[in-house]
Amino acid sequence: MDHRIEEMQIYAKEHHVPIMELDGIAFVLNYIKEHHIKNILEIGTAIGYSAIRMCLVDEDITVTTIERDPERYALAIENIKKFALEDRIHVLFQDAFDVELDDMFDMIFIDAAKSQYIKFFEKFDKNLKKQGVVISDNLDFHGMTHTKEPILSRNVRGIVRKLNLYIDFLKENKKYDTMFFHIGDGIGVSIKKVD
Ligand code: SAH
Ligand code: MG
Repeated sequence: MDHRIEEMQIYAKEHHVPIMELDGIAFVLNYIKEHHIKNILEIGTAIGYSAIRMCLVDEDITVTTIERDPERYALAIENIKKFALEDRIHVLFQDAFDVELDDMFDMIFIDAAKSQYIKFFEKFDKNLKKQGVVISDNLDFHGMTHTKEPILSRNVRGIVRKLNLYIDFLKENKKYDTMFFHIGDGIGVSIKKVD
């Protein structure tokens, strides 16, 4: 394993940055490889870990990624420089809801505020090619989206409710075929149908 990748993992652990889990990222990287995904939009850069790893799958992959937190944005820029990937990863320091893009992508990776997933999905649907894929992370939310145990924190309950609304939204969305994988923290794979 590349020491620069390991350094990001250690940093994330020490500073509680919720980067993708090991088997989750492995699943996504494999998907990118198998389906020849070349241009990716990521919502939620954090420190650039997943963007860098996705980009490294193949030398003609480009990633546009959005981060609103100034500290994380700065670290992402630094990390991307360490890999000399500035030409292939474009980080937008903005709230995703303020971003307007005309580009079309093979994949949209949603890994940001968990209570906003429906809104992210609806906003960027127009930027996804036909037969493109939306990958959504954290749909299990540590198992809480399918437990019958009472959840004590009101805040966490709110997030779980929103994630379950998103899961139902994906299941009912006739323009997409969605599969759910209990890998990492739970991953949704939604393929845009050709109409
Ligand atoms: N994809 C990263 C982890 C992202 S963590 C990885 O696996 O390496 C989620 C990030 O989304 C946080 O850094 C948070 O600041 C950012 N975020 C949440 N809501 C956002 C929004 N509306 N616009 C931009 N960034 C957002
Ligand atoms: Mg995540």
